[in-house]
Amino acid sequence: MFRRSIYKTPAQLRSMVEPGLITAAALDAVRPLIRPGVTTLELDAEANRVILERGAESNFQLVRGYRHTTCISVNEEVVHGIPGERVLEAGDIVSIDCGAQYQGWNGDSAITVVVRDDTRPELVARREELSRVTEGSMWAGIAAMASASHLGDLGAAIQGYIEAQGVSEVSGRTYGILREYVGHGIGRKMHEAPSVFNYRTPDPGAEVKPGLVLAIEPMVTAGGEETFVEEDDWTVSTTDGSDGSHWEHSVAVHAQGIWVLTAPDGGAAGLAPFGVTPAPIA
Ligand code: MG
Ligand code: MG
Repeated sequence: MFRRSIYKTPAQLRSMVEPGLITAAALDAVRPLIRPGVTTLELDAEANRVILERGAESNFQLVRGYRHTTCISVNEEVVHGIPGERVLEAGDIVSIDCGAQYQGWNGDSAITVVVRDDTRPELVARREELSRVTEGSMWAGIAAMASASHLGDLGAAIQGYIEAQGVSEVSGRTYGILREYVGHGIGRKMHEAPSVFNYRTPDPGAEVKPGLVLAIEPMVTAGGEETFVEEDDWTVSTTDGSDGSHWEHSVAVHAQGIWVLTAPDGGAAGLAPFGVTPAPIA
């Protein structure tokens, strides 16, 4: 049977620019709506509106058995939360995962937002720190793509970044990395080979070289690493009830360097602290 290479041609990489930007636009539109009183279904509708307006379609709706445009995971939920009638409250930590398919190519990205709560500054500080650490670990993994020889270097960078945080000053705990859920290749399908582990592995994995496009998506908790799937058969929550955060970008390696497809600046701002400058796909 023919097996598609995990490495894409320059023309294929160019085809992935627009779906990446549409995915970014959908999340940008949702971000300011994340306020107390909004339902997760309303956020989902806004993401879908933007994707359709740009002539794309939701690739989450192409996943068997899933009917929504986003996954929205709140507090102890880490990933795969289903949008619904849940009303967001002040202080909630909310991860929104979204993707668009455009002319047969896919983008996939996730952000975490803490809902403003002036009455509970400690709770907000704790949750914002979790989100910051998770986002930082994602950028560490992306930055590693600029110089990595093999996929295993990415997981080592992500885990290394989280371990370097040590014990949190605000929560007094160390952070956990989900093991059962991982990043992935992306292209004609939202989920393609290879898997991208968010932790060190004995196997170095596939070679990192031009043509590789990956969704880098650490899922981090403010406590334990064990999760379970809720009765809705989708939502993944922490067993110990600790908060979760999820950040994700789709990133291309090409002849001139790396480019974050789901960031309008190609990842320039997020990569700057790591001394990496993204290169546009020519
Ligand atoms: Mg995603
Ligand atoms: Mg993904």
